[in-house]
Amino acid sequence: PTDLNALADEYLRLAYHGLRAKDKSFNASMETDFDPAVGKIEVVPQEIGRVLLNLLTNAFHAVKERTEKETGPYEPKVWVKTQKTADGVEISVRDNGGGIPDDIREKIFQPFFTTKPTGEGTGLGLSMSYDIVTKGHNGKLKVESNQGDGAVFFVILPV
Ligand code: ADP
Ligand code: MG
Repeated sequence: PTDLNALADEYLRLAYHGLRAKDKSFNASMETDFDPAVGKIEVVPQEIGRVLLNLLTNAFHAVKERTEKETGPYEPKVWVKTQKTADGVEISVRDNGGGIPDDIREKIFQPFFTTKPTGEGTGLGLSMSYDIVTKGHNGKLKVESNQGDGAVFFVILPV
């Protein structure tokens, strides 16, 4: 049994500090909304941690990229939310980066698909996450995005 709220909190810090270690000038604000009703659930913590790290790293990367391009006022931000649902729990990772263009939405879960420069992305994060969540935990991994205005990924785990 794993405390998902504590796990999400831990990996949020890990992802942020991981990026900051490479780029000291990087800043983003973070907001968490942890539902205490989520409690402890049966997962492989290293695997769900890996999923969270992938989603969070992507989110911070997206806001970093938008920060570098944006000409008007912009406050980079990443949100992590947990919620108890009727038949399980849902963890969402939201960012206000550039979003996912419609024409690549279908491809992002494919192994080796990346829009990042060589050396920066392997294109394996989401495909690995998809397998861990769906095959490994019998859950679902979903995405919503408005092009130009951020993305949100939902990890839905049965209890
Ligand atoms: P990588 O991060 O190595 O590129 P991933 O499998 O993690 O590989 O992601 C694949 C692609 O999906 C990214 O290159 C990017 O184009 C897109 N993507 C993933 N997460 C986001 C996000 N939060 N915002 C915008 N694009 C994203
Ligand atoms: Mg990635």
